[in-house]
Amino acid sequence: MIRLNNINKSFGKNQVLFDINLQIAQGEKVVIIGPSGSGKSTVLRCMNLLEDIDNGEILFKGEKVTHKQSVKQLRQQVGMVFQRFNLFPHFTALQNVMEGPVWVKKQSKKDSEKRAKEILTSVGLGEKFDFYPNKLSGGQQQRVAIARSLAMQPELMLFDEPTSALDPELVGEVLTVMKDLAKKGMSMVVVTHEMGFAREVADRVIFMDQGRIIEDGKPEQVLQNPHNERTKTFLNRIIA
Ligand code: ADP
Ligand code: MG
Repeated sequence: MIRLNNINKSFGKNQVLFDINLQIAQGEKVVIIGPSGSGKSTVLRCMNLLEDIDNGEILFKGEKVTHKQSVKQLRQQVGMVFQRFNLFPHFTALQNVMEGPVWVKKQSKKDSEKRAKEILTSVGLGEKFDFYPNKLSGGQQQRVAIARSLAMQPELMLFDEPTSALDPELVGEVLTVMKDLAKKGMSMVVVTHEMGFAREVADRVIFMDQGRIIEDGKPEQVLQNPHNERTKTFLNRIIA
């Protein structure tokens, strides 16, 4: 689905990614863990071309992606969900979900509305079409954000700490939606500290530290029997 070959990335003089090699197969679910500042978000943002890379290459479905010509095309195929939901406050849930298909994909309002209602229903928001974001809980807003991404019919979904900004009692409903999506066969890359989700859903877990991929393996191996000391230290810290 997507392959990153030897990606390096700096912000000014500060190099934040070093020789990142990563591939995600179709239908694969990959969880990325690691300390704050280790480069997890930057990797996702590079995959979605929200950041320019210094060197290396990105292949999407076997084709080399070069920044300028590919942004629009790639963004339609790669959905991204952030920690903060970034909904349009003056649009209802339904309008938020319809916006991309109508304005970016130029689909008819009628079809977009029908599809948006189906997707909102599938994330458990069948009763909330006409609610504005400020009338929805954080968990509901995040589910609208996921629905909005899905409305563009992406082939790969990137999640950057999608539950980190939520009150603990709202985390479960968002994880449930993500697990459903995983079961339907979506290719997913998820940055999260939810180890239960990683154990249950991930085909692979990647541990990043200081801009490098330190470990990449099956969840049992990385989470229970990590090879690297830094992985052990990190896991001890978050489980403690
Ligand atoms: P993580 O998501 O693992 O917490 P990030 O990818 O956000 O890490 O950040 C990795 C490093 O890149 C950090 O040192 C961060 O300060 C730096 N960084 C991220 N975004 C920018 C930016 N837009 N400008 C400058 N430095 C940035
Ligand atoms: Mg981050």
